Amino acid sequence: MCHQPDIGTVVSVPQIHMDTSKCSGCGACEVACAFQREGLFSTVRGSVMLHMEDRVDYFGIVLKRLDGSMLLGRPEGIEIVTPGGPASGGAATSKPVMLREPCDLCGGGDPWCVAFCPRDALSVGGD
Ligand code: SF4
Ligand code: SF4
Repeated sequence: MCHQPDIGTVVSVPQIHMDTSKCSGCGACEVACAFQREGLFSTVRGSVMLHMEDRVDYFGIVLKRLDGSMLLGRPEGIEIVTPGGPASGGAATSKPVMLREPCDLCGGGDPWCVAFCPRDALSVGGD
């Protein structure tokens, strides 16, 4: 089962917001997450990761959440994919998402992915 709201909206998911219209696909959130977790500048350790498809200027992020669902933030909007549910094409970088740790909001501190996003695409708050 998946939920896909209107294109271009700012969507609130538990404690992380993403404005998909702002994401440039730079991957800074992914590296920042990996560093705060394990002290490594890595693209294989984060709870958030770059989402890519074989299309020009098409990118976004995937965020693994504590309930096991995935937040897919892409140009067409946000999609929440539940465990075992359909994922609509594309691939995260490197390490498969199911092998990564879920986002714990940096242990309740200030989320690094939000702080390091150069486009202010990510924010904290909400439900
Ligand atoms: S809030 Fe922290 S743990 Fe969650 S994705 Fe961002 S950097 Fe990673
Ligand atoms: S840091 Fe921000 S702009 Fe860069 S990939 Fe992550 S959400 Fe997108």
